[in-house]
Amino acid sequence: MNYLNGLNEKQKEAVLCTEGPLLVVAGAGSGKTATMTRRIAYLIGEKGVDPGSILAVTFTNKAANEMKERIEALTDRTRGMWVLTFHAACLRILRSHIDKLGYGKDFTIYDTADQKTVIKECLGELGVTEKEYPVPYIQSVISSCKNKGISAKEYEKSCEANSEGFKDQVTADIFMRYSEKLKRNNALDFDDLLVKTVELFETRPDILALYAERFRYIMVDEYQDTNEIQYRIVHYLAGAHKNICVVGDEDQCIYQWRGASIRNILEFEKDFPGAKIIKLEQNYRSHGNILEGANSVIKNNTERKGKKLWTEKGEGEKIRINRAFTDKDEAFYIAREIHKLIDKGYKSSDIAVLYRTHAQSRNFEEAFSKQDIAYRVIGGTRFYDRKEIKDIVSYMRLVHNSQDNLAFKRVINEPKRGVGSKSVEKLETLAQINSMSMMEALWDGGGIEILSGKSAESVEMFSRTIKKYSDQKDESRISEIYDGLLRDSGYMEALEAQNTVEAKSRIENLMEFKSVIYDFEEQNEDGTYEEFLEKIALLTDVDNHDSDEDAVSLMTLHSAKGLEFPVVFMPGMEEGTFPGRKIYESNDALEEERRLCYVGMTRAEEILYMVSAAERVVYGRSELRAESRFIEEIDPAFIERHEAENKSAGFSKDKFRNDRINPRDQLKYLKQQSALLSGNAKSRTAGSGEPPAYKGGERVKHSKYGEGMVVGMKNDGQSSMITIIFDEAGTKVFDAGIVKLKRI
Ligand code: ATP
Ligand code: MG
Repeated sequence: MNYLNGLNEKQKEAVLCTEGPLLVVAGAGSGKTATMTRRIAYLIGEKGVDPGSILAVTFTNKAANEMKERIEALTDRTRGMWVLTFHAACLRILRSHIDKLGYGKDFTIYDTADQKTVIKECLGELGVTEKEYPVPYIQSVISSCKNKGISAKEYEKSCEANSEGFKDQVTADIFMRYSEKLKRNNALDFDDLLVKTVELFETRPDILALYAERFRYIMVDEYQDTNEIQYRIVHYLAGAHKNICVVGDEDQCIYQWRGASIRNILEFEKDFPGAKIIKLEQNYRSHGNILEGANSVIKNNTERKGKKLWTEKGEGEKIRINRAFTDKDEAFYIAREIHKLIDKGYKSSDIAVLYRTHAQSRNFEEAFSKQDIAYRVIGGTRFYDRKEIKDIVSYMRLVHNSQDNLAFKRVINEPKRGVGSKSVEKLETLAQINSMSMMEALWDGGGIEILSGKSAESVEMFSRTIKKYSDQKDESRISEIYDGLLRDSGYMEALEAQNTVEAKSRIENLMEFKSVIYDFEEQNEDGTYEEFLEKIALLTDVDNHDSDEDAVSLMTLHSAKGLEFPVVFMPGMEEGTFPGRKIYESNDALEEERRLCYVGMTRAEEILYMVSAAERVVYGRSELRAESRFIEEIDPAFIERHEAENKSAGFSKDKFRNDRINPRDQLKYLKQQSALLSGNAKSRTAGSGEPPAYKGGERVKHSKYGEGMVVGMKNDGQSSMITIIFDEAGTKVFDAGIVKLKRI
């Protein structure tokens, strides 16, 4: 086996440089991930390195799995290597040693939804409202503290020092309570997985030594997006032997808002003096026009090392730019283009629509359903966030960790057992007095006795059920426990009794979840109950992306990191959408948006569309939007304006360049423009015998909305739509064949 086959000279150099600090820094699609994969196979297959001494960190579980599969295809000695995300690696370490920090090894992992529930409990206890202290705000304070290595206590101290902050003191109280509750529930949140690992390394040098000696070869992909705490983990592990290889691209750092620190990659050489630096310059992913287009955008950023990518792939097609009239038009335009692409032989799974925020997906889902396009939304409301799945997972968690009061409270009255909030409170107090968990209070704390007759009976059943399966969990199959819990808890029966459409769909989801369990059992013969719970706790948004399924992928630009598709659509290329408004806060924010744009563009192999809408409905209000500055930044040599039949108005982007201009001025400008366009608008209306053709700029009156001006007519072959800006009522779109208008 020649492990260097097909690699270019620079890539080979990176594979062959196996000792000492190494930084591979290169633009998108230059084979960074591919090179790292090959390097691991080379280490094991050629150099005879023990797979158990390899730690490779990826950004998502999906990327980890792909990397593992590729390595397995190259060498059959892979047992013991760790190819994982930071979170999964930390979880493994903590499972073995967290008792040293005073936690039980059977701790539970709380996801964002669990976190919210705990925070709400804290707010209630402190007598403050969500309005005063919005849960997402608290979440972000807690998370950003943790990622900077600031504990609740330290945060409180910093509040005391700060005379302004009554609000901060309350936030600190919430943070303290939150931390105490998690500890009491023997639970960790996502950030804790990293924070506690660092704590472990800092307080127990013997344990750190164990891992630092074991992992002689450490590799980190997407290094530009590591944060402070991840940086510390890497440094603790590699500090002594300095055998570390990181790969990344400073132009693709898109998680600064979540604490990623671009300095980690920019100052790698300072952190590891004598580091070897290899730059890869050939791009294997995209055709020339796409690559050059992306380069011309990113070169506007200042905080970068600067590099030039080239490709052998030829120019390919120019970047297709389209300006739709409304956000709905945008979605239909994209749907029509997808049909054309499929007619030309592309598969649905070759195509991705990458948007700035999840909220944008709705228009596409609607348009794609209407136009019979198979699609799959990655992220958004996840399967695992559905109520019934969270309920049953809480049952499973409680069976595993009886300290988990959150899971307890979620299911104690689910299905209804006549346990009201008063009873739950009583149980909680009882548990606290006896220093036990609520579950234990039922088992041996006299919890049943304090409940009233009827509910006492059903709660006793519940208590026995949990006990039964926690005794069995290590001997029985996971699927058996699952079935048993659904049956004995009465959960399934309650759903069946409801007999509603909603209940039926919940039952279907529970069945679907059973196939998740079956899959796990099949793929992991020795997989334990605990490992299964871990696996689902660590799933992230991107992980349900199944590239084998023939469907168009819809996801955010953030989720698309590291992926590639033959055809990419980037909708919403408008000021205010992308870049979003936060760019007015700082230049850093603008540069991060620009990097995100670069990430999006460089996902495309053959065809890239960038689409915008002149008018977008946001929170139920329609707003006029100028074309994104990023489109303007693309060298015109690499783009073509894709005139589509639905393009009913053209706007000078310069006029809307700054979306802070007065909406009234925008309107005035729009009116002038549409007057100029009147000739075109006419030709786009339906033929004779069809609804009356209005001209752009024409004044009309509507019985309900009053007077206004026609700004667009369009005909998609089946119906013709007319858009009017009313003097008072704003913009409306009507079916021209139905709406009653009077010319004035
Ligand atoms: P990103 O910055 O987006 O993460 P990357 O630098 O990690 O990109 P890869 O995903 O590793 O790039 O590679 C991009 C594409 O180029 C992949 O399809 C990969 O298989 C291919 N590729 C990488 N190196 C070579 C090579 N030497 N010859 C042919 N194809 C290659
Ligand atoms: Mg990559």
